Amino acid sequence: MEKDCVFCKIINGEIPAKRLYEDEKMIIIRDINPKAETHLLLIPKEHYADVASLNERTAADLGQCLLKLRELQDVLGIGGGFRLIVNKGVRAGQTVFHLHIHILAGRRIPGF
Ligand code: AMP
Repeated sequence: MEKDCVFCKIINGEIPAKRLYEDEKMIIIRDINPKAETHLLLIPKEHYADVASLNERTAADLGQCLLKLRELQDVLGIGGGFRLIVNKGVRAGQTVFHLHIHILAGRRIPGF
């Protein structure tokens, strides 16, 4: 856990957020500022800054999270299609430096 990390605070309950899904490796919540009809965040519980900070162990954990996401598609209401986005670095628009995967879905997903 990182002291000043908003996602660590959500994970440990200091900041309230409804968990759509939780297991020992991740939570899935709604983005507070949605950019699509459905905008979820898959957040690994372990704190590391970004996708470039992955190591073999955390990459394997993240792979497990994606396999779980595959199982959860219909429960989460994204079975009709979704887009995953991972921002790395300020230039790419990353604002929270705890790895997270944006899950965009719904009627209209904005283009790039
Ligand atoms: P990024 O710009 O890729 O770092 O994405 C960070 C995302 O976290 C943004 O889309 C924010 O809207 C979202 N966010 C920040 N704080 C919260 C929060 N307390 N609950 C849910 N989403 C949040």
